[in-house]
Amino acid sequence: MGNKTTKRNISALGPTEFTGIQLKEPSTYAAGFTGIKVALQHVFKEMGIAKSLRTLSQMNQKDGFDCPGCAWPDPKEPSKLGEYCENGAKALAEEATNKRLDAAFFAKYSVEELSNWSDYQIGKGGRLTEPMVLKPNSVHYEPISWENAYAILAEELKALNTPDEAIFYTSGRSSNEAAFLYGLFIRAFGTNNMPDCSNMCHESSGVALNETLGIGKGSVKLEDFDSAEVVIVIGQNPGTNHPRMLSALQKCKENGGSIISINPLEEAGLIRFKNPQEINGIVGVGTSLTDIHLQVKINQDVALLKLILKKLAKLDLEDNKVFDHNFIETYTEGYASLLNDLERYKESQLLEICGVPEDLVDKTVAVLATKNKIIICWAMGLTQHKNGVDNIKECVNLLLLKGSLGKAGAGTCPVRGHSNVQGDRTVGIMHHVSKELNKNLEKVFGFKPPEKEGLDTVHGIKAMHEGKVKVFVALGGNFLSAASDTEYTAESLQNCSLTVQISTKLNRSHLVTGKTALILPTLGRSEIDKKEGAGRFVTVENSMGIVHRSKGMLVPASSNLRSEPEIVGGIADAYFGGSHSVDWKNMSTNYDLIRKKIQMVFKGFKNLESKSKGSGFYLPNNVRDLDFSKLPNGKAQFSLCNLAKHALSADEFLLMTIRSHDQFNTTIYGLNDRYRGIYNERRVVLMNEKDMQKYTFKKFDVVDLVSSYEGKERKAEKFMVIPYNIPQGNLAAYFPETNVLVPINHYADKSNTPISKSIVVKLAKRN
Ligand code: SF4
Repeated sequence: MGNKTTKRNISALGPTEFTGIQLKEPSTYAAGFTGIKVALQHVFKEMGIAKSLRTLSQMNQKDGFDCPGCAWPDPKEPSKLGEYCENGAKALAEEATNKRLDAAFFAKYSVEELSNWSDYQIGKGGRLTEPMVLKPNSVHYEPISWENAYAILAEELKALNTPDEAIFYTSGRSSNEAAFLYGLFIRAFGTNNMPDCSNMCHESSGVALNETLGIGKGSVKLEDFDSAEVVIVIGQNPGTNHPRMLSALQKCKENGGSIISINPLEEAGLIRFKNPQEINGIVGVGTSLTDIHLQVKINQDVALLKLILKKLAKLDLEDNKVFDHNFIETYTEGYASLLNDLERYKESQLLEICGVPEDLVDKTVAVLATKNKIIICWAMGLTQHKNGVDNIKECVNLLLLKGSLGKAGAGTCPVRGHSNVQGDRTVGIMHHVSKELNKNLEKVFGFKPPEKEGLDTVHGIKAMHEGKVKVFVALGGNFLSAASDTEYTAESLQNCSLTVQISTKLNRSHLVTGKTALILPTLGRSEIDKKEGAGRFVTVENSMGIVHRSKGMLVPASSNLRSEPEIVGGIADAYFGGSHSVDWKNMSTNYDLIRKKIQMVFKGFKNLESKSKGSGFYLPNNVRDLDFSKLPNGKAQFSLCNLAKHALSADEFLLMTIRSHDQFNTTIYGLNDRYRGIYNERRVVLMNEKDMQKYTFKKFDVVDLVSSYEGKERKAEKFMVIPYNIPQGNLAAYFPETNVLVPINHYADKSNTPISKSIVVKLAKRN
């Protein structure tokens, strides 16, 4: 601890070599027969045919296991043909691969060598099989016993001056049981430093919804899509990131609903859906989805929404029927101020700013004027901006004006990216302090939780960089690659005396480490979690607030893995040495006991054991009941939102980071982005053809992307320019390769979510 160690020669960004691009026309539909083919190719390659078909048949089924991909809900009656999408199958293939990473692998490859592999190559190595330690001055991980690993962590934690010199990160794949126990240990240890992946994705949604509607979650149920008159999909690409959502949009269309998509890119998944569970989807034309696509400029959603609200307000003046005045009077506050605020803007000004043709705006207004069963779905395209919170509040303004809350076919729908990210927050993973939670924990567990506000992701990274934090523990995830300002974040992690990763697979965060590093390999969601011969189930919560069970069925990748709750219990037991009011050992092996405690600490979980069976149960949601009693004057709040400001110089662009179709968060399944027509290459930047002419770029020209904030330049090297249908002045490129461009101190107001969707960059031509 603390003695001089040699710096390892680690690449935080990985290689920049090209992999041999092929370009085709972007697709005009999602899924279809090709979707099945690609899905099966991935699972057969990683798992073999028999194991693939057996396992897929249990994914998202009532007594099966929950897909380790996104958080889209399962229908009450899952399809017997298979209740998963192409990317769900890829997520399973990643976890249930037959490939293994054992001690021999780590003896052969040093962390320095591995850091020069691409994220794709690192991820394809296979499943971790035993605990590993990377000792100071060493570049090779070596095996370690579980007990010795826990002892190293306990010793480092005890050596800290204060508990706030440690950070405990959570990735959204952890079950409710693991997350609850982890949060309990962290508070018993004495800190609220609990950053989680939500900080980098839907934190802006949580802040906006809490302030306007009194709950940080969406209000719609899956069945609401059946009766919605209009579904607005804004800042989201469901075809790749939440593919089963396309079935819900198809139902909406078949029942006469309209779909409006608002996005700088016209994504295949919002143009047409070929449902692979239907003949029409296999051999036919499928279902046309979007009726109106509004190709807004990056981060100009507020300008567009304000324009729509202004035009609706004008129509309402004519017959007082466009807005739901009864709802407004009964349930809301701030209506008059909102109308006054809209008066401050000229339609022509808003039109120019958002870049959408007026005829399409008018068409949208005409649809919305007569409908009030409206659902608004969104994702990172709204949250990862400096005004991310306002982007969402402007959406809520529209729903409040239309009375589109608390009824069938209407409501808010922030679509979560990680399978249990919402559940983790619900059972206590948060850096904010809740007096009610602390009071309940003290009552149930007999210790006083800390009351000092904790660190979220960006502030945790800064604290590590400044040497204020010495120990970093991650429950799942790939913190380095998911975070902004990659090189700064790498320095922060390397500044720690110890970093610990509880993981199923190797990723770049295992290579960019503290002086000492531990890998604690855990079970996958699809694997059997047994204790004394009895199989155990865990619970998760999806995007719509349904809590249900997940029970693995595969033989674990190694007999030397431990479940996440067991690992947390092992760490706690080693730290407290068995002398604490909480019986960590018993808690970590007896999930029924964890669930009993969850019911005692949190509202809405009564009879969790029985109610989580089958398709599970909905947690309470005040918006569904139109109960805004938690808010000022007991009313839902209209908001006055600011326009996004981006003063770009002539040679500057706004870049948004995106996922390819062969990717889930920072996990790279493959090198293709089939829907966008890009094959076998990730180092590409999508550019408007008129901009290419204007700035004399040719297709395949190689450039560096350069951002400059407060005089500090950040560079993402070697990207090929690709002509693409994107608004002028805007660019798009994949993360994590471009997260290096996002400065650590540039994040959304109030939510601190990094500005990954609106980065100011220049292109530097390379010869
Ligand atoms: S939609 Fe999401 S949860 Fe459902 S199978 Fe696909 S990746 Fe998994």
